[in-house]
Amino acid sequence: IVLYGAPFDSTTSFRPGARFGPSAMRHESFGLETYSPYQDKDLIDISVFDSGDLELCFGSSEMALSDIQKRAEEILKSDKFPLLLGGEHLVTLGAVRAAAAKYPDLHIIHFDAHADLRDDYLGAKLSHACVLRRCHEIVGDGHIHQFCIRSGEREEFQFASRHTDFHPFTFEGLEETVRELKEKQVPVYFTIDLDCLAPSVFPGTGTPEAGGVSFLELLKAIRTVSQANLVGADINELAPMLDASGVSTATACKVLRELLLAIAK
Ligand code: MN
Ligand code: MN
Repeated sequence: IVLYGAPFDSTTSFRPGARFGPSAMRHESFGLETYSPYQDKDLIDISVFDSGDLELCFGSSEMALSDIQKRAEEILKSDKFPLLLGGEHLVTLGAVRAAAAKYPDLHIIHFDAHADLRDDYLGAKLSHACVLRRCHEIVGDGHIHQFCIRSGEREEFQFASRHTDFHPFTFEGLEETVRELKEKQVPVYFTIDLDCLAPSVFPGTGTPEAGGVSFLELLKAIRTVSQANLVGADINELAPMLDASGVSTATACKVLRELLLAIAK
């Protein structure tokens, strides 16, 4: 597994700060146990390389995405597993472009409070509010599986009902979805927008939405998804400075630890 950070938040629609996510997670991770009592696994037993943060252009989303895509391609080319730390959710598009180039039949499992299916946001096609819509243009109908969604425009929900496998509010249906993807042996990219968590657990994010899932529900869902044929993943939308208590960063680190341990073979 190769970690790479994308400290980018230029298209954040409400409260900025996700560019500080990767560095905050690295710093906070020193205070976290490597052992997970949930999975009885330890980070010291798995092979993870942190390739550091990309130096991204803040003025051009396309240039930033191109750099993210290049790093993901390098990692995939050497048959490693790319795990991206955001950054705002737009960064996922770079990683998905790389994964879809290698795996044409790519599916995406998407956890988020937001549908992220707008065609544009204030005229911009490249925005964190549009990222799954841009991914849909790459992977096509029925290849995006969305969970926990509880916010968006009416048009996004209508688009989802026609074009994506859509599960609002909770993880209901996740086990069946993963079973089907496993049976079909299709490659799966896994993107976790951490604002799927309830803001009581995770307030340090740009667009908090009341009514999210608990940490333990997310943990269980991550372990379910890890049974699919995963070829890449990301966690995104931690904005550490928006939570002075530091709890959101600690939570993000724990989600990352559990994700690493779940996907490590
Ligand atoms: Mn999102
Ligand atoms: Mn979101």
